[in-house]
Parts: sequence; C-alpha cells; structure tokens
Amino acid sequence: VSAARHASLRRALVETARAMNARGIGMARTGNVSARIPGGMLITPTGMAYESLKPADIVAMDMHGTATGSRAPSSEWRFHLDIYRARPEVGAVVHTHSNAATALSCLRRGIPPFHYMVAAAGGPDIRCAEYATFGTEALSRNALAALGDRKACLLANHGVIATGADLDAALELAEIVEGLAAQYLATLHAGKPVLLSRAEMARVARQFAGPDYGQPSEPAKSKRPGRGARGVATR
Ligand SMILES: [Zn+2]
Repeated sequence: VSAARHASLRRALVETARAMNARGIGMARTGNVSARIPGGMLITPTGMAYESLKPADIVAMDMHGTATGSRAPSSEWRFHLDIYRARPEVGAVVHTHSNAATALSCLRRGIPPFHYMVAAAGGPDIRCAEYATFGTEALSRNALAALGDRKACLLANHGVIATGADLDAALELAEIVEGLAAQYLATLHAGKPVLLSRAEMARVARQFAGPDYGQPSEPAKSKRPGRGARGVATR
C-alpha cells in the first residue's frame, strides 16, 4: 500500500486524532486511531504528538501486521488489526486513555445500565476487559472477549476502545463512553445508582434503531470529525 493512496482517509485520521485532544479525550501521546482499508488498515504512528502529525505519517498495515511507510505504527496496533479481522462491520477504531473511563478501568469495573445512553455502545452495559500488558496478543484477546458484539469496552488499568462504521462514529462513541464514565463515577460518589432493567435497555436499543431517532442521513458525505453519526448522537 503506497503512501499516496487513501489520501483523504489519511487526512481524516489526522483530524480525528487532533479532535481527541480538542475534545479532552486525548492525553499527551496516548491513544491511537485507525481506519479500515481494503486488505488492512491505516493507523496513527507511535510516539508522535497529534499537533505535528501529517497525513504522510499515517502507517498502512496489511491484515498480517506488516507495516509500510516511514513511521512505525502505534505500539497498540495489534488490537486494532484483530478487531478488523473479527468484526467485518467495524470501519474505524478510536482508543483513548480518557480520564473518567480510565479511572473506572482501574477499579476494573465496567459501566452498568445506570443511564439509557449506555445502549449507544450496543448492549445493556459496557464491559471492562481483563488486564494484559499493552501491545500484547493477550490484551487483544481480552479486548475482543469484552467487546463481544458490542461497539465499545474498557481495558483494565488502561483506557477505552470505541469502534464504529467510520471515524466520526468511533470518535463520537469514545466521547459518549467518557461522558458516561464521568457520570457513573459521580453517581457512585453520591450513592447507589438505580439501574435500568434489561427490558428497558432493549426498548432503548429499539428506539435508537428506529425512525424517530436521529436526523436522516446526509446526502453528501462530509468527513469532518464531529459530525453526528446516526444512532449514537446526544440530542
Ligand atoms: Zn492505550
């Protein structure tokens, strides 16, 4: 895969990485972003500040984990690739060490159905994957197990993985998970949350999927990060 290919997707990856900082879910050089391409993925490089990131710094990797380009891929490339292999519907992955979600992950607690927006992650709760060292196959396995058929999970003592059909959707879900984690922590401070039932969460999931939720899809696809992805927006 040559560096000149996928130019607009490379720009979108850079914009998404910068948007993580702008929205307060990036932290120093932690976190990474990827998007699926035919036969592999594009992913942010390791150890570069997002402000200085250029489209040419984005690394292309095939489905066997072979990288091409001038930069080394994020040290966490493995779970990105394994998610694309296991989940054909996923088009983008955003990984962050955002504050509240990471705090919760250090308690090794997921997010229960304390709020209906938890359903935006594709199930009645958001699970926390078992701990494994960053960048390892073990972490990849644990993350896939916690994800199951969901769109997001926490990683114990580490952070968050959010997926989506495209970069906008994955970024938005990463923000939603961070917001929910902050609300859940605040609730735990104040007392014992009242949890919604499985039946209610199933009803919410049907509402999200139904015609009364979200704007009709936009006629011309604009790729600016921050445009609401249908089905997970806050409104
Ligand atoms: Zn990480």
